[in-house]
Amino acid sequence: MEGTFWGPDFAALERDDPEIAAVLLGELARQRVTLNLVASESPTSPAVLAALGSTLANKYAEGYPGQRYYGGCEQVDRAEELAVQRARELFGADHANVQPHSGASANLAAYAALAEPGDPVLAMGLPHGGHLTHGSRANFSGRWFHPIAYHVDPDTEEIDYDEVRELSLAHQPKLIICGAMSYPRLIDFARFRRIADEVGAYLMVDAAHFIGLVAGRAVPSPVPYADVVTSTTHKALRGPRGGLILCRSELAQRIDKAVFPFAQGGPMMHAVAAKAVAFREASRPAFRAYAEQVVRNARELVAALAEEGMRPVAGGTDTHLAVLDLRALGVSGRDAEQRCERAGISVNRNVVPYDPVRPAIASGIRIGTPAVTTQGMAEPEMRRIALLLATAVRADPGTPAGADALTGVRDSVRELAGEFPAYLPELVTTR
Ligand SMILES: *Cc1c(COP(=O)(O)O)cnc(C)c1O
Repeated sequence: MEGTFWGPDFAALERDDPEIAAVLLGELARQRVTLNLVASESPTSPAVLAALGSTLANKYAEGYPGQRYYGGCEQVDRAEELAVQRARELFGADHANVQPHSGASANLAAYAALAEPGDPVLAMGLPHGGHLTHGSRANFSGRWFHPIAYHVDPDTEEIDYDEVRELSLAHQPKLIICGAMSYPRLIDFARFRRIADEVGAYLMVDAAHFIGLVAGRAVPSPVPYADVVTSTTHKALRGPRGGLILCRSELAQRIDKAVFPFAQGGPMMHAVAAKAVAFREASRPAFRAYAEQVVRNARELVAALAEEGMRPVAGGTDTHLAVLDLRALGVSGRDAEQRCERAGISVNRNVVPYDPVRPAIASGIRIGTPAVTTQGMAEPEMRRIALLLATAVRADPGTPAGADALTGVRDSVRELAGEFPAYLPELVTTR
């Protein structure tokens, strides 16, 4: 390789904008001394960050490779061709669109390609793990389409496939969506396919949460079953923030037109290049080992937390995430989230199925293992994390003993995080 790379110049930022420079330093420090159990996050590699912080950020490239509305696109064309080719190979898909700015943008484009305003769309209800873009009234999906919600079975807390079929027969949806934000079990894509075929609906799998596990072959792929798979690239996949759409060849043109010009303008070519980097990383054996470890870690963490009195929704996990019902401990999801935050552990409050309290309070928390696994943690560390998390959740900061306990957990968290740093010191520019 020849040429010079102009990469991020932190000294220039510190000189020109000390306020934002301080934010960047603060965020790196935060990521280094806390435990990240947010199920939708995982630290990107230095290679992904290098592509993001590159001069590709300067380039307008409306259109697609070879058919741009701007000159000077020969280099970014190459980046997009590589990203598309790698995504197709990694996921075994006929076609890939790598331009969506986010998972929500990918979903907007998929709706636009497959349905007309007013069409019935069947998707998992938000309180049971669905996403805002699956029919929430606060979102385009619930305002411009006619949303119908399916649920989980109250006993098993797994998707009620009989209800999915009954609702499909009754409402004849144009589009059926599966894939969720807080569903810990595997989804039976074949069963969704059969139901979609029975009523002549398109099947869209929103794989935003688990696409990284699909890439690492740790869970089954939706690609053989779905008409369209939408996703993010920044969750367990460890790419840049962004979206991705995979589809069968017959739908390729419709998907491409729905992304641009229907839903978006110019693509973010630095992010497209970073997606290409992430797809290549995800095709390596090391990524497969990571994906498998993510699931093993989630199972271990859930088992250890269950011993501490936190009930895993749906009885456990097959993936990278779990929802824990805290009612037996008498602590709300909101209080648990705040206590963990004080102790340096990032989790988020989450409703449990048929939750009697409102989402702002919630009866549970959601946890995930992609970030800690990327940092190199394995089963023994999951046991340590479970003890720290359980101590934090039980500690009432309103009492002196509780406040002390949270400080103690915070110190232990810092120590554990320090043993498994997200970014090695030598890779980072500091003052
Ligand atoms: C994260 C997520 C999205 C949205 O992704 P953004 O990039 O935040 O827009 C959509 N669907 C599901 C199921 C998700 O988990």
